[in-house]
Amino acid sequence: MKIRRSWGRRGGGHEMTCQQAVNHITAYLDGALAGRDRDKLERHLEECPHCWEHLKQIEATIRVAGAGPGDDLDPLAREDLLEIYRRWRADQRPVD
Ligand SMILES: [Zn+2]
Repeated sequence: MKIRRSWGRRGGGHEMTCQQAVNHITAYLDGALAGRDRDKLERHLEECPHCWEHLKQIEATIRVAGAGPGDDLDPLAREDLLEIYRRWRADQRPVD
């Protein structure tokens, strides 16, 4: 049985939980998040150092993963980060 919880319906408080924010971060960094979700995420990030830190880490990982050859990063280290990133994304798939 699934219960749909209405998070943060307190008016003026957090409209998005950390779990939701984390789920949206990759889409946000991909530029795939728009409208209210994007607004809510940005508001959450302003108020939540934990999620902000998480976004920074993902952003750094994406930047490293997207870096071309000639970057001074060890290729093996880059592969590791890519793998971490892929696994992280796989983990974010909502369990339905
Ligand atoms: Zn948060």
